[in-house]
Amino acid sequence: MKIVIVGGVAGGASAAARLRRLSEEAHIVMFEKDEYISFANCGLPYHISGVIEDRNDLLVQTKEGMESRFNLDIRNFTEVVSIHREKKTVVAKEVKTGRLYEESYDKLILSPGASPIVPPIPGLSEAKNVFVLRNIPNTDAIMDFLKTNDVKKATVIGGGFIGVEVAENLKELGKDVTIIDMAAQVLAPLDYEFAQLVHKKLIRKGIKLKLNDGVSHFENEGHTVVTQSGQHIESDMIILAIGVSSEIKLAKEADLKIGALRGIEVSEHMLTSDPDIYALGDAVEVKHRVSGLSTKIPLAWPANRQAIVVANHIFGIKDSYKGSMGTAVVKVFDYTIATTGLNEKTLKQLSLPYQSVHVQRNNHASYYPNAKEMNLKLLFHPTTGEIYGAQGVGYEGVEKRIDVIATAMIGKLTAHDLVDLELSYAPPFGSAKDPVNILGYAARNILEGHVQKVDVLQVNDLVSKGAFILDVRTPEEVKYGSIPNSTNIEIDQLRSRLNELPSKDTPIYVLCRVGHRGYVATMILNNLGYNAFNIDGGYDLYKAATMKI
Ligand SMILES: Cc1cc2nc3c(=O)[nH]c(=O)nc-3n(C[C@H](O)[C@H](O)[C@H](O)COP(=O)(O)OP(=O)(O)OC[C@H]3O[C@@H](n4cnc5c(N)ncnc54)[C@H](O)[C@@H]3O)c2cc1C
Repeated sequence: MKIVIVGGVAGGASAAARLRRLSEEAHIVMFEKDEYISFANCGLPYHISGVIEDRNDLLVQTKEGMESRFNLDIRNFTEVVSIHREKKTVVAKEVKTGRLYEESYDKLILSPGASPIVPPIPGLSEAKNVFVLRNIPNTDAIMDFLKTNDVKKATVIGGGFIGVEVAENLKELGKDVTIIDMAAQVLAPLDYEFAQLVHKKLIRKGIKLKLNDGVSHFENEGHTVVTQSGQHIESDMIILAIGVSSEIKLAKEADLKIGALRGIEVSEHMLTSDPDIYALGDAVEVKHRVSGLSTKIPLAWPANRQAIVVANHIFGIKDSYKGSMGTAVVKVFDYTIATTGLNEKTLKQLSLPYQSVHVQRNNHASYYPNAKEMNLKLLFHPTTGEIYGAQGVGYEGVEKRIDVIATAMIGKLTAHDLVDLELSYAPPFGSAKDPVNILGYAARNILEGHVQKVDVLQVNDLVSKGAFILDVRTPEEVKYGSIPNSTNIEIDQLRSRLNELPSKDTPIYVLCRVGHRGYVATMILNNLGYNAFNIDGGYDLYKAATMKI
């Protein structure tokens, strides 16, 4: 069996290694148009700042190392330029010499990835200071430019995962960094109120944010970025990080089926519309595990898992790809931000019925030194409790909680079940009631009708309508900020000051710092016959969510 692979990094190299583990006989040819195979794209932003000091650490495997370990025929600097399905051949072009030759295959695997989107911004062709970040040559170019130019100001266009990581690493180098994004927020998988926590962090760390504003054009050979709102941002260097588009050219020209999202269509075995051609990684469209709809999730886990599915399927081992959920984590300075599944924005777009709940808990026992707060959000079906997704913003341990929830989702556990997860605990690591358990209890309170709640983004509207806001924090806490026209009755005095409350049929919106005392007060009031709603997430989240940038 002769297997030809196009693309030698995450998906391609992983497939090649598994294929060899399954067969000593197969002839495996792996084409890579660039020099490097199997490098760590995910580490590139951290090499720019020197956090990952040694460039060689990014080379997970070298051509020679992989050839000898796995007995592969690796052809780097060789681009596959066309596929001839009827003959079962590909045409390869040696990048250095331009020589073209044909290579036959029994099975073909496409893992060409996705390339950074470079829109035709006026002034781009004159600019010599604009970079993208996809591979090692891109990283070298950025680092050379930083070394040979006096870069003081850098602009990152696009506040996605890569944009935010690059911005942080440029800031670590002491640059004056601005992020521009057309959307109202960075990190699109987060919902707005959590994105605002990230905005606050970025601003505190000295990064300038220009949101709701796209790039109009570049002036002065890229040294001035002009935004659509007319702002002029002086810039010694620009990083374009507005997203990636799947490499579908080869597949399209070979008449393989392309999906509506402009990714290669594949089956659960990662087979394209041709029974001898597989595709995987950033180039493909797959089923979203929660919504069941087509999606493109350009992350390393799907590429690696799909590579194993492909190799197994070629050798007749039962395996299938069950879909992606977009479980992801990113570092933003000392913050850890993680997400899985669908966010609230998407649930609204899909018109799916949902409920959400926020909790803020410490990452470990509060009495053990250095406990740090983490914010978690759970989205679930309002009656069945099916978990749609979760998000977390905080410090250590956020990703652990999101991973637990991702695992629960894959196991089809519901929000009810989160309370039964018996998770490891000792004071330096967690709490006897883990934040994931607390999310489950909070969700159950809503599912079982014990607590009614409103979201922090509804509060200003309620205030403008004259709603009764009851703030149950201490007067000392209230001194540092409160919701306009709210009434302060500290929770411990609530039962003795009921005469200050409106009639029992008037809705009372209860506020505390993070939502926990608010929940307790809401329960007290409801048990006394009042109509109380907890303000989910409390004053801290309200303040962040309504912060003006
Ligand atoms: C800066 C950066 C940071 C990232 N950080 C993370 C992270 O923290 N977590 C995470 O989950 N994911 C991260 N990713 C995404 C992750 O790296 C990708 O999802 C993953 O590499 C996709 O694997 P792939 O095989 O589809 O494509 P790639 O790994 O990109 O490999 C595709 C290869 O195919 C080659 N190729 C394309 N066309 C041809 C052709 N015609 N002939 C020969 N070769 C060809 C390309 O040169 C490329 O080397 C990051 C990506 C980048 C760029």
